[in-house]
Amino acid sequence: MQDISSAIESIRQRLGSRLCIMGHHYESDDVVEHCDVTGDSLELARRIPSIDAEFIVFCGVSFMGESAALLAKPGQAVILPEPAADCQMARMAAAADARRVLEQMRTLGLDVLPLAYVNTDVPLKAVVGEFGGSVCTSANARTMMEWAFNAAERVLFIPDMHLGRNTARELGIPEEEWHILELGPAGIANPQAQPLGRKLLLWPGYCPVHAAYAPAHIEAARSAWPGCRITVHPEASPEVVSLCDAAGSTSFLIKDAEANARRGAGAAIVVGTEINLVHRLAKRSPSATIVPLVDGEAAACPDMAMVTQEKLLRALESIEAGTWTKVVLSEADREPARLSLTRMLKICG
Ligand code: SF4
Repeated sequence: MQDISSAIESIRQRLGSRLCIMGHHYESDDVVEHCDVTGDSLELARRIPSIDAEFIVFCGVSFMGESAALLAKPGQAVILPEPAADCQMARMAAAADARRVLEQMRTLGLDVLPLAYVNTDVPLKAVVGEFGGSVCTSANARTMMEWAFNAAERVLFIPDMHLGRNTARELGIPEEEWHILELGPAGIANPQAQPLGRKLLLWPGYCPVHAAYAPAHIEAARSAWPGCRITVHPEASPEVVSLCDAAGSTSFLIKDAEANARRGAGAAIVVGTEINLVHRLAKRSPSATIVPLVDGEAAACPDMAMVTQEKLLRALESIEAGTWTKVVLSEADREPARLSLTRMLKICG
């Protein structure tokens, strides 16, 4: 690994300011150590417009690279070390299906605004932009859902039903006002039998990593670590979130764990999110006890794990060799998708 690591650093030095390596918090330590910028989806998206490097190598899953390419300056190339690394949740919402659902709602005379989690591909974001909607992240889902309800009678939240339900709870929207859509090959399955008039319609998607947490995991953690503080990402189900001490975005989980570790309260801090991040938090605060809610492979994102140091090195070598492949977006999708992202960035600053 040392050779790979040194080779990466040599290329970084040679490329200097022509290169910026960005990495999501869920990547492994040996990838993150080479990144110029690390963050969650919102933090990384916000940084793109201020980056002047010619090459942005993005260590993350494909929708993140696509968002970077949407926000990049003309002439900048966004390169993914592993283009096949995709978000399983993003794959649960195809653009054609979302368009079908939105058109069905229009035909039924039901006013609905789409609000898409950033974990979606560019064609989906383009449909959302075209229908007047916006993107949101877990850090600003509440603000963006409020914005959406100010603009329309009804909101279609795509694709994470858990984040949608957790945000609705925060806003005090009662359960009788939500509905998880039942979808079929033709869009909304049997529309007459579904309560489509409800305020919040939820796409039936989820993150397999965070949705796997169960109330039993919280009980087990409380019994293993008496007095512990438990925090979780809002991609976990509301049933799990309601048993925790706090829930919030990746950046919230980091700040919360570090603040509590500094306070030195003594009790363990149990964090329910992707395992690479939790282990990094534990390493950074060795005097505190920071443990994952669920350990091992079940709590690792298999797609994030596809980005390795070797693949990062190959991506950098391809830049030097002039054989790099950049993220290419469909021209038809570019503008409406960019609109859905910039709406969020304007509203949330
Ligand atoms: S952890 Fe979940 S939401 Fe994040 S990239 Fe992996 S599958 Fe997608």
